[in-house]
Amino acid sequence: MKIKSAVFERSATDLASCPRWALPEFAFIGRSNVGKSSLINSLSERRALAKVSDTPGKTKLINFFVINGTWSLVDLPGYGYAKLAKVQRFDFNEASADFLEGRRNLRQVFVLLDSRLPPQAIDLEFVRWLDDSRVPFAFVFTKTDKQSASHAQVNVALFKQQVSQWRREPPPIFLSSARTGSGRGEILSFIEKALAEPLRA
Ligand code: GDP
Repeated sequence: MKIKSAVFERSATDLASCPRWALPEFAFIGRSNVGKSSLINSLSERRALAKVSDTPGKTKLINFFVINGTWSLVDLPGYGYAKLAKVQRFDFNEASADFLEGRRNLRQVFVLLDSRLPPQAIDLEFVRWLDDSRVPFAFVFTKTDKQSASHAQVNVALFKQQVSQWRREPPPIFLSSARTGSGRGEILSFIEKALAEPLRA
C-alpha cells in the first residue's frame, strides 16, 4: 500500500467521543516504550504523526488518524502495572478497554511486543483478555534491529507456545523495525488485504 495521505483526525477521551464515521479501523497498542509511536510514524511515512500522543495529558487519549482517506489508524493508550500503595495492579486504560470491546469499526488490533523480551505476564494477560473478548488481534514484534534475528525468533516461538495453550490458531505475526523499516510492507499489505475483504456479519 502506498501512503498518499496521513492526517490526524482527533483525540477521544472515551468510546462515546470517537468519530462517527464508517471508516474501518486498525488499532495499535502496547506497553509504553515498546515502539508504538515509532512504528506508527514508520507505517505512515510521517516523521511525527504519532507525536500528538506524546504531548503531556494526551497519553490517555485515543488518537485517530486517517490514511489515504480510506481507513483509520488508531493509537490506543496502553496497559501496564500501576503502583497502588505497595501492591502492583494491572492497569488497563478504561477508554481502550471500552473501545476494544465495543467499537464496531474496529477491524484488527496490532499488539506490539518488544522482540528482545521473552513473554511477559502482563502482555499474555492482555492478549488473553483480547481473545476472550473476541477481538481479532495480531502480534508485532518491535525493535528487531536491536538483536540477532535468531534471538527474536526464540521470543516469537516462546510467545506462540504460550498462546497455543488457549488458542487453536496462532495470530498473524509480524517482525518489525522502525529503524530499518523491515516489516512495514508486510503490515501494510495485511491491512490492504483486510480492507478488500467483506465485513464479517
Ligand atoms: P512508545 O512509547 O511505545 O510510543 O515508544 P517510542 O516509539 O517512543 O519508542 C521508545 C524508544 O524506543 C525510543 O527511544 C525509540 O527511538 C526506540 N525505538 C522504537 N522503535 C525502535 C526500533 O525499531 N529500533 C530501535 N533501535 N529503536 C526503536
